[in-house]
Amino acid sequence: MKKKIYLCSPHMGGGEMKYVQEAFDSNWIAPLGPNVDGFERELCAAVGAKHVAALSSGTAAIHLSLILLGVKPGDYVIGTSFTFSATVNPIAYLGATPVLVDSEPGTWNMDPELLEEAIQIANRKSQIANIKAIIVAHLYGMPAKMKEIMAVADKYGIPVVEDAAEALGSEYMGRRVGCNSKFGILSFNGNKIITTSGGGALISGDAALIERARFLATQARDPAPHYQHSEIGYNYRMSNVVAGVGRGQLEVLDLRVRQHREINAWYRELLKDVPGVTFQSEPSPDFYSNFWLTCIVIDPAVAGTDREKLRLAFEEANIESRPLWKPMHLQPVFAGCPAYVNGTSEALFNNGLCLPSGSNIDEEGRRRIAEVIRKVFKV
Ligand SMILES: *Cc1c(COP(=O)(O)O)cnc(C)c1O
Repeated sequence: MKKKIYLCSPHMGGGEMKYVQEAFDSNWIAPLGPNVDGFERELCAAVGAKHVAALSSGTAAIHLSLILLGVKPGDYVIGTSFTFSATVNPIAYLGATPVLVDSEPGTWNMDPELLEEAIQIANRKSQIANIKAIIVAHLYGMPAKMKEIMAVADKYGIPVVEDAAEALGSEYMGRRVGCNSKFGILSFNGNKIITTSGGGALISGDAALIERARFLATQARDPAPHYQHSEIGYNYRMSNVVAGVGRGQLEVLDLRVRQHREINAWYRELLKDVPGVTFQSEPSPDFYSNFWLTCIVIDPAVAGTDREKLRLAFEEANIESRPLWKPMHLQPVFAGCPAYVNGTSEALFNNGLCLPSGSNIDEEGRRRIAEVIRKVFKV
């Protein structure tokens, strides 16, 4: 069996061990420590953020952002439907109801017009005061139409959380994503563009909110010599060992973005003469994707083949590919939630595929990928 090619596997830069070794040498094998402080500082610089809290996961960051926005049982939080479940699960942790909004075809992310429709309908039902937040995901690295989304959110005074878990290093109107709203969240899970093996971060322009996130993330311990608690806390902080991996990974973030964009360009060249294949693409120069994953849609009526045939052909060759996210409004667990849909995400799910996009796929890997593509599309 040939070596497995993954969608996106961890790709160390070489600098990680130095920071991890420092943690061992100083015996900072703990949550918190100099690597955590350093990682937060360096992450701020890397994304142009004012304040960052390093956490145990991206999901924890979303959970804390919603707690800080005062989400309570009975509230509503509007979320992108076309996303990974981690975007909306924290809404349910808090006993609130996700309101799911479909995508627009340009970026595949939240449709600003449908967002406004969802808010207006809530308004008519006198529920608008209970909409505590809007969570917008930048899927596969592609920034959402933030200008339009922020205009709607500001009009109704609803704070926005940017789920930039897949979009570290992507830019919107010249600024890195995650810093365009009240909160941004990042993930450093094993399959993301850079990884700490597992981890996340919460971004905000408000120092007090990040300070409070750190407090809640360390069991909400009041200042006292004994353990004193006036609030429910969480164990959500990043460990000092893991943060060392993150510091090394940040050194190669820009390189990784270039590499993911280069493999995206390679796929475009490879598939340029294939009818019925379209890519997730930047709609204008305002959008700069890290192309964490290269994603295509295959129109079976035109291409003479379909997504599933390509996926199975890859699988046969021990190459991982994956259907696009199944929208949350089609997931059994969110079946009862209000949803504003236009068919975009359902069509993407039916015909879309994520292609292997890791920066560590070598020439031999590309040759194997191209062979499968040529066979399936007969080019
Ligand atoms: C990975 C991911 C998350 C969750 O991040 P974890 O660090 O795995 O908890 C959230 N949202 C999206 C869109 C993701 O892809």
